[in-house]
Amino acid sequence: MQGQMMDYQLTLTPMLERARRLFYKKEIATKAGPAMERRTYGEMAERAGRLANTLEKLGVRRGDRVATFAWNNARHLELYFAVPCMGAVLHPINLRLPGEQIAYIVNHADDKVLFVDPTLLPAVEKLAPHLKAVKHFVVMGDKIPETTLNPIHAYEELLKDAASDYAWPRLHENDAAAMCYTSGTTGNPKGVAYSHRAIYLHSFGLSMADSFGICERDTVMPVVPMFHVLAWGTPFVSTMVGAKIVFPGPHLQPRDLAELIQNERVTLTAGVPTLWMGMLALMEKERFDLSSLREMIVGGAAAPQSMIETYEKKHGLKVTHAWGMTEMTPLGTVSKLKSYQIDLPEAERFAIRAKQGTPAMGVEIRAVDENGGEAPWDGKTFGELQVRGPWIISSYYNDDRSPQSFMDGWFRTGDVVTIDPEGYVQIVDRTKDVIKSGGEWISSQDLENAIMAHPKVLEAAVIAVAHPKWQERPLACVVPKPDFKDSITKEEIIEHLRGRFDKMYLPDDVVFIEAVPKTSVGKFDKKVLRQSYREYVLPSVSGG
Ligand code: AMP
Repeated sequence: MQGQMMDYQLTLTPMLERARRLFYKKEIATKAGPAMERRTYGEMAERAGRLANTLEKLGVRRGDRVATFAWNNARHLELYFAVPCMGAVLHPINLRLPGEQIAYIVNHADDKVLFVDPTLLPAVEKLAPHLKAVKHFVVMGDKIPETTLNPIHAYEELLKDAASDYAWPRLHENDAAAMCYTSGTTGNPKGVAYSHRAIYLHSFGLSMADSFGICERDTVMPVVPMFHVLAWGTPFVSTMVGAKIVFPGPHLQPRDLAELIQNERVTLTAGVPTLWMGMLALMEKERFDLSSLREMIVGGAAAPQSMIETYEKKHGLKVTHAWGMTEMTPLGTVSKLKSYQIDLPEAERFAIRAKQGTPAMGVEIRAVDENGGEAPWDGKTFGELQVRGPWIISSYYNDDRSPQSFMDGWFRTGDVVTIDPEGYVQIVDRTKDVIKSGGEWISSQDLENAIMAHPKVLEAAVIAVAHPKWQERPLACVVPKPDFKDSITKEEIIEHLRGRFDKMYLPDDVVFIEAVPKTSVGKFDKKVLRQSYREYVLPSVSGG
């Protein structure tokens, strides 16, 4: 027997319509210089209609790709809805990638129109001769500035001349709504095409109380860029539930973030750990009233347990650790305590919360060991994490590297993990970062987390260095806090680790560096470090 429910397509149009009808008074605030620019969802929906009319006039048809080269702001949100709801495909570009990779992805995606923030014009001007399919450039401001881009239009001028009514077409839920490229550090980025259905279901995923619980009463500040996996889906879920949004624009310094949270009474924010480490360092020196915050979502890279603890113990702020990927829209796991874990001793509670968490409803997980068998959920056995579900990629967009990323209908994440009996996933490493020493695997992330708990340390990255006997040994690259630059020593770092790790896991050496190199989305770029220390001779080898 078949179920007898409507064949209702899961698309983004009802989200936009809902915001227009129910939440037209709610605010979307963008930091634009020292001042805030304020709009409502009512205005956003009206302007999305104008934008769709405009795009149609510019020749954009169903399935065409429309690129954005922009920071987090209200105009970007209008594009987030106008483009998919008219049946075209939104393509936010990671503006921090090297020029040749940006040219590659714009050409690979065959972007027809490119929207650009005024401050980012110079970068696009340089790339323009290499962008083959782009027919129109639109600068996201009031007027057309002095520029070599051609043909160029100004966003507000286009909108002014367009009708606000737009007959949104009926779309199929499997139509592509948006695409992002991975920020992989090897080879060209790979394209991921998100369907309307995936984003729709993922938005429900983010609104569940046991994940981010985003609801109408929230004021959400997506610090994660709108070009990094669609700001982790926060713009969509916020619109769906009518939460106020605060966009930081290009203002991502610790002070900007702390002031925005304080002044706009932000309740939930999301971003990579480095941002929050920076804000924590600032909060050691200055006071801000961040009492409105109910939750800080930290993901994209491992959140050190020491950071989670310091925020909570010193500042009363709750950091929630989450894991995801571009290929997963991106929600995978969220680390929250279960009801019967709340009374565990403090150390155990923090240890659970520092794991990457349990899978969100909609995400199935398994860990696969070196022999292709499923690793037990014992919290000890390493395996590669594999996932499946309705918002997980089924193949890369036009890319012959696809097959190696899948195994029997599961997506291979490339993350090495353990899964404990309660279902909490702990990312041990990326497969390429794990240190292979004499048949044992050493987790670089475990060492980093422990080193970053040292009071004199700001950041630390641990990499593998070649060793004639052991094959690889760990080298700790440590950034001291500015006040301890001259007093920190190698010995105290090793001493600090000694009680926590078996002798064979201890780094063979410690070097002090100015900063850990970062990828385009703010994660530690260990490839660059490995390159710098390729020839490094460890004291254990030189006899030093
Ligand atoms: P991206 O597609 O840029 O979001 O990168 C996804 C990768 O980032 C994952 O496969 C992980 O290796 C890493 N990652 C994301 N979140 C976390 C986390 N909470 N802890 C450790 N690694 C993470």
